[in-house]
Amino acid sequence: MSKTEAPFQTNSSDLTAEKDQFYRHMQRAGLKRTAQRDLIVDVFLRTEDHLSSEDLYHLVKAQDPTIGQTTIYRTLKLLTEAGLASEVRLGDGRTRYEPNNKFPHHDHMICTGCGRTVEFFSAEIKRLLDGIAAEHEYEPKQHSLRIFGVCADCRRERNERAEIESSVETHVHLDYARAAK
Ligand SMILES: [Zn+2]
Ligand SMILES: [Zn+2]
Repeated sequence: MSKTEAPFQTNSSDLTAEKDQFYRHMQRAGLKRTAQRDLIVDVFLRTEDHLSSEDLYHLVKAQDPTIGQTTIYRTLKLLTEAGLASEVRLGDGRTRYEPNNKFPHHDHMICTGCGRTVEFFSAEIKRLLDGIAAEHEYEPKQHSLRIFGVCADCRRERNERAEIESSVETHVHLDYARAAK
């Protein structure tokens, strides 16, 4: 599971609208509503995280050990088709999903050191991208922007390590100098 700092509030109190949307989609797809799917949808929509299919499997399995991984994967696909989930790729090669009820659109900043993800929304970026799309006569449907970098904690840690290493090096040099005398 990826660690996430989310500035957005999840609307966790009532998921009736989201669930209705999901079951309407299931009906159109000719699928039946099951207790297992109910549980998966409930757990997923309440998450604050970017979950891979496997992450969600472990969360749901804690509540219903009979659930299979394939059911989880299929339900995630259905949630995406129904417009309730989005695929996110955070650079670790795994497909993750996040609920759309969290926030309509946001972008991600990913630390290459520890994998921590920061979510942000910028009206300015959106305006800029809309402007670029308009210039090329595009009607933008969605965009995906990821910033890869090193977070403050990892940088601090790296600096401290460098300091220790350089002080060790100085001692070694001094010892060599002494030994040479
Ligand atoms: Zn980091
Ligand atoms: Zn996100």
